[in-house]
Amino acid sequence: MHYVVCMKQVPDTTEVKIDPETNTLVREGVPAIINPYDIHALEAALQLKDKYGGKVTVITMGPSMALEALKKAIGYGADEAILLSDRAFAGADTLATSYVLAKTIEKLQKEEGVDLVLCGKQAIDGDTAQVGPGIAARMNLPQLTYVMEIVELDQEKRTIKVYRKVQNGKELAQTKLPALLTVVKDINELRYASLDNLIRAARYQCAILDKNKLEVDESKLGLKGSPTMVRNIFAPPERGGGEIIPGGEENPEEAVKTLVEKLVPLEVIPNA
Ligand SMILES: Cc1cc2nc3c(=O)[nH]c(=O)nc-3n(C[C@H](O)[C@H](O)[C@H](O)COP(=O)(O)OP(=O)(O)OC[C@H]3O[C@@H](n4cnc5c(N)ncnc54)[C@H](O)[C@@H]3O)c2cc1C
Repeated sequence: MHYVVCMKQVPDTTEVKIDPETNTLVREGVPAIINPYDIHALEAALQLKDKYGGKVTVITMGPSMALEALKKAIGYGADEAILLSDRAFAGADTLATSYVLAKTIEKLQKEEGVDLVLCGKQAIDGDTAQVGPGIAARMNLPQLTYVMEIVELDQEKRTIKVYRKVQNGKELAQTKLPALLTVVKDINELRYASLDNLIRAARYQCAILDKNKLEVDESKLGLKGSPTMVRNIFAPPERGGGEIIPGGEENPEEAVKTLVEKLVPLEVIPNA
């Protein structure tokens, strides 16, 4: 079994600031972390490897500083790590990002086979949750999103059964392999890196692939291949304290009537 985990290095959002002049993220001096959902995707792959055997490869598209995230993944127990880095990839939107990741997974599929691709539910900086489904669509893979538990992987029948997190509960779903999963944090508890793996990580040389090592159409890369236009980025205004309707405890019926009179004109509830 070959599990490929897509991992993104993101700015630590507790410290993200927006430049009010340019409306762009201030990245200088902001510590970078592994996207939290992606560590759970890695843990899910490692648990599958522990149970069913196989190999875990982690891939990330980003600048050379993302090597740090890949080394951490090796420290957790990943077998291989690949950095996708090229000036031509810069400025990629989700369409161009999923294109490069899909092309890389296709290359791995041709060379050694890929059984399962695992992504986080979303990245905590871009927050679109589009890249996982984008990879699946490009590779024509079945996708199971918001996975909160892997119930079973049947290597003979080549199927995977999972629970997906849905509103007010969970849904049991099964699909054929190869497939792509996006995972939520509830899927597992993270392990500690072992000393052996940390030593291996310190010595590990990540493979670095640029556009020439992938079979890519250059017009689909980076800013050139990104139809998304960011017109404005802004911090939403802080919410006010809202309005308190007095008298709820003494006269709830009257308070509800006042509330309904306020909500109907706002079209929050229909006029009965
Ligand atoms: C016009 C434009 C220009 C941009 N320029 C840049 C830029 O120069 N630099 C930049 O960092 N961002 C840039 N972005 C942001 C970029 O589009 C997103 O960061 C990226 O496409 C991923 O989208 P997301 O963060 O919403 O990820 P999501 O779709 O929320 O991520 C879901 C999952 O996909 C996987 N994933 C996402 N991104 C990666 C990745 N890079 N490598 C491996 N796995 C991944 C992870 O498993 C993640 O949990 C730009 C966006 C636009 C619209």
